[in-house]
Amino acid sequence: MPSIAGAVGGRLFWVHRGVTWCRPRRCLLPLQLPLFSSLAAAAGGGGAPPHLPVVIVGAGPVGLVLSFLLTKFGIKCAVLDKNVEFTRHPRAHFINNRTMEIFRKLDGLAGDIENSQPPVDLWRKFVYCTSLSGSILGSVDHMKQEDFDKVISPISVAHFSQHKLVDLLLKKLEGIGFQTYLPDEIGSSTQDLVLENKILMGHECSSIQLTDDGILVGASFNNAGRMQERKIHCGLLLGADGARSTVRELAGINMKGQKDLQKLVSVHFLSRDLGKYLSRERPGMLFFIFNPDAVGVLVAHDLEHGEFVLQIPFYPPQQMFEDFSTKVCEEIIVKLVGWEPTDVQVLDIKPWAMHAEVAEKYIGCNNRIILVGDAAHRFPPAGGFGMNTGVQDAHNLAWKLCLLQNGVASTSIIQTYESERQPVAHFNTELSVENFKAAMSIPATLGLDPTVANSVHQVINSSLGSIIPRNLQKTLLEGLFSIGRAQLSDYVLNEKNPLGSSRLARLKSILDEGKSLQLQFPAEDLGFR
Ligand SMILES: Cc1cc2nc3c(=O)[nH]c(=O)nc-3n(C[C@H](O)[C@H](O)[C@H](O)COP(=O)(O)OP(=O)(O)OC[C@H]3O[C@@H](n4cnc5c(N)ncnc54)[C@H](O)[C@@H]3O)c2cc1C
Repeated sequence: MPSIAGAVGGRLFWVHRGVTWCRPRRCLLPLQLPLFSSLAAAAGGGGAPPHLPVVIVGAGPVGLVLSFLLTKFGIKCAVLDKNVEFTRHPRAHFINNRTMEIFRKLDGLAGDIENSQPPVDLWRKFVYCTSLSGSILGSVDHMKQEDFDKVISPISVAHFSQHKLVDLLLKKLEGIGFQTYLPDEIGSSTQDLVLENKILMGHECSSIQLTDDGILVGASFNNAGRMQERKIHCGLLLGADGARSTVRELAGINMKGQKDLQKLVSVHFLSRDLGKYLSRERPGMLFFIFNPDAVGVLVAHDLEHGEFVLQIPFYPPQQMFEDFSTKVCEEIIVKLVGWEPTDVQVLDIKPWAMHAEVAEKYIGCNNRIILVGDAAHRFPPAGGFGMNTGVQDAHNLAWKLCLLQNGVASTSIIQTYESERQPVAHFNTELSVENFKAAMSIPATLGLDPTVANSVHQVINSSLGSIIPRNLQKTLLEGLFSIGRAQLSDYVLNEKNPLGSSRLARLKSILDEGKSLQLQFPAEDLGFR
């Protein structure tokens, strides 16, 4: 059971065994506040929708961490997720110090991650190369002795795939009584349904309605081929429903910042052959690969098991997502590997867009709706701040709701969630954009400036888009890109070629001076308050 302590409104408080106590010492009494207590006590019946203090929309890492912390703090909640299965396509993999510190308090989750993650020597480096078996242009080791000596934090950063983290979180939640249900496992009637400690998969939050004492959530689900809506009444609706949050939209909260910095196709694949080869020859976490036939960033999620995600730049509408068939992706993989692994198994291909935006408000609808995680902010993944910031949002919000439920704090404490977490998101957005630029400085140095590629793409979109057919635009765009990639040929990129040698020297100085993409940001990771 996590215990927390702190000070609110000049009073000292501490939480132990789910009960909040407050000084002065003379009156050690558990406190109550109407907002939560009336709802907590209420139950469905007489045809009324069931009541819960909190409904969380989204069973991603942030929604699951939040449900765990709230439950441990004695706040009853249920989680809704629109998908019937948890996604296996990994995105996040880097867990920073502060998140690991929070995970230490989640029934030993941090220890489980440490025991299950790949050995650090397999992921401490970023490698820059012409192919996975071709020349290494440079590499950066991101671990220092002080990380192993645990100088700045009692726990190290980790490399552990998001889908495996979700599996561990589900186990922890099971351990405290949570169960996962599909619509046909709980039936269509909501009356008398006990929702507490349930994760309802296949339930999409599709409507909200403010009531006198809470919020009525409509969750659509497929019941034997027929769409139905379940109504659930709650005190607070927490939107942990990701970058394209419906809760945010229903609450009328806008995002501010830059949209569509880059579009990519993410290819999740397995190859034990490639994993074995890289473990032996050049282990690393990220491989930035540049050659005349293809460019891409390979994330080695798990070299021992040969699990990878390849990120390929994608330029719609000239390129269509459908162009990236399994066969095309396999061909790109071979071009980037430099030899043909016989066991490549493409599991999933997904398009995604990179944004740098923060919600203009984190709290809406008279304090009844609160956004957390990607629903509140979406960053470029450079530096791995997305999930980490979301988990830290969840932690900040959970202990505050605990104080609110137990009557130690007034409703105004909810506003401090926004005033504390939104500036962190703004800061991390800027930092992630800077990190993205640092990552792009390497191809730019090699003569393949992504900003030029984006400008060419924009010119084609704006000037030729309406005049020439899409196929011709595609040929033109890909022709221009292939001319650009010719800069990466061995003929140009070698020490004997004056242009190549000056580019390689510049690349070396960027890497040596620490101006390329970094993995660890201890000041930003731990240095906020
Ligand atoms: C390539 C890549 C690499 C990344 N690497 C890192 C990294 O190393 N470290 C890091 O910290 N972050 C990283 N991130 C970011 C990280 O993946 C996200 O920040 C993280 O997934 C956010 O978690 P979340 O729970 O807020 O949202 P999500 O993981 O998006 O989960 C949202 C959930 O809500 C559900 N949902 C959506 N709408 C509804 C609805 N209407 N009703 C019910 N359910 C709904 C979805 O099905 C989903 O399960 C990376 C991202 C990318 C793209």
